[in-house]
Amino acid sequence: MSKLSNFLSSSDEQEIVKAITEAELNTSGEIRVHIEGTSNKPYMERAVEVFNSLEMYNTKQRNGVLIYIAVEDNQLVIYGDEGIYKIAESNFWDDTCNLIINSFKEGNHKEGIVKGVLEVGEKLKTFFPYKKDDIDELPNTISKG
Ligand code: CA
Ligand code: CA
Repeated sequence: MSKLSNFLSSSDEQEIVKAITEAELNTSGEIRVHIEGTSNKPYMERAVEVFNSLEMYNTKQRNGVLIYIAVEDNQLVIYGDEGIYKIAESNFWDDTCNLIINSFKEGNHKEGIVKGVLEVGEKLKTFFPYKKDDIDELPNTISKG
């Protein structure tokens, strides 16, 4: 079990923001990372709640993706907006989840999230390639709490 306060250093967080920026050069999709200690709700339900509270549905193509992590519970959800689940298989994010979880098991929190973010970008690219006039519709910062 990890504590939220020492899950990521501030330089780790900067590297993750950099990875989001880099991933979004592959795709018009928008990626966000939310980290909190624990949730008393089912994790998928909580991820959807966070997605909505961050107003991540505010994308033209409904292609926002939230990587939700409950640090103390070792739980992770990747939730994509309706533009994605309409065209993707239901197990679309499974291997990305596993990739992140495997890094977490080795104690590599930052590496896991960076790899996951970059892979989400690669996967979105197929359906939502980057366009020249791309707008950064959602902030690349990590949200917490
Ligand atoms: Ca964009
Ligand atoms: Ca963005």
